[in-house]
Amino acid sequence: MTGLCTQPPAIRPARYLALLTVVAALLHAACVGNNDHVREFVAFGTLVSVSIYGADEQQAANAIGQLERRFAELGTAWYPKADGELKAANAAIAQGKPAHVSSELKSLLQDAARYEQLAGGLFNVCLGNLSQLWGFYDLPASPASLPDPATLAAVLASNPSATQLSWQGLELSSSNPHVMLDIGAIAKGAILNIAARELKTAGLENAIVNIGGDLIVLGDVHGRDANIGIRDPSGGRPVASLQVANGEAVFTSGNYERYVDIDGQRYTHILDPATGYPVQHTASVTVVHEDPVLADAAATALLVGGAPQFDRLVAAFALRDALLIPARGDARLTAHMAARLHWQEPDHQEPALD
Ligand code: ADP
Ligand code: MG
Repeated sequence: MTGLCTQPPAIRPARYLALLTVVAALLHAACVGNNDHVREFVAFGTLVSVSIYGADEQQAANAIGQLERRFAELGTAWYPKADGELKAANAAIAQGKPAHVSSELKSLLQDAARYEQLAGGLFNVCLGNLSQLWGFYDLPASPASLPDPATLAAVLASNPSATQLSWQGLELSSSNPHVMLDIGAIAKGAILNIAARELKTAGLENAIVNIGGDLIVLGDVHGRDANIGIRDPSGGRPVASLQVANGEAVFTSGNYERYVDIDGQRYTHILDPATGYPVQHTASVTVVHEDPVLADAAATALLVGGAPQFDRLVAAFALRDALLIPARGDARLTAHMAARLHWQEPDHQEPALD
């Protein structure tokens, strides 16, 4: 294994596209012992893995069961097409009426408004009408054709923004009826915060909760930092890894995870609010941060911004650890991220250092 040196290296994406990145491979699984408990279940349309270390079996089983129930509730509450508070809020907004929401959703939407500002509008949780137009709520089916340009232009011109949201306690109003909330780019961060809180309340100090490759580490794994693998998005074995400390979250946004195919062309579910089109220029962004909500939002914002906006967004979100792989051209990563990444197969995968 080789650590990258202090200078941010240029990685040649042609060689590394395949590398990036579902941060999912749980290398620590190799050291699962008698007091360790791992359970996988499906939530939010993806695979969730909860690993608890050094704990009583019954206590761990109870906590994991509780998380599974909570995740199922949140999956309904926070998906725009399920019968929950987000759908109800969108219906109210469309009719110009206020909606009552949970304190968790309020806090998430307030964070989202702040991140929209930090990202200069590249991150926007009010673009549900755009996602709908592209058919992302109809997956796995793909639309027969591209969105009608006039309809697309009209959706963009409606200019939905989290700055148009206002609050009276837990009552949400929008000055723009064209706001359709879609919190897919930030919800997993909030959900991992909730999971961390619940596990701590249950007295469980050492755990990793992984939602489809986005994860948080609590405590340690047998006295050591968690060793998290970064594997090929096509499902290959880990090609790189990093040590993830107590309280850190690792989030990846990729253009390969959810997409529609139209006329033989693949369009990712992450949309550029400026053009209304799915992002093509960037394959993947990984962010490590102690605030999972910020990590989730920043990974999406950096994916939309692409390499030209990397430095600006890293500064805006005050990120220490970020890695961006463009579809073409050199990858970008912060010096701190470069120093903590370990490549698994140096001969085969060593990045080019300029
Ligand atoms: P994932 O959760 O799939 O790993 P992201 O965190 O980047 O990836 O979230 C992608 C989701 O965010 C999309 O499915 C959509 O719901 C929403 N979204 C798409 N474009 C944007 C954008 N520019 N800003 C905020 N949310 C977006
Ligand atoms: Mg995100």
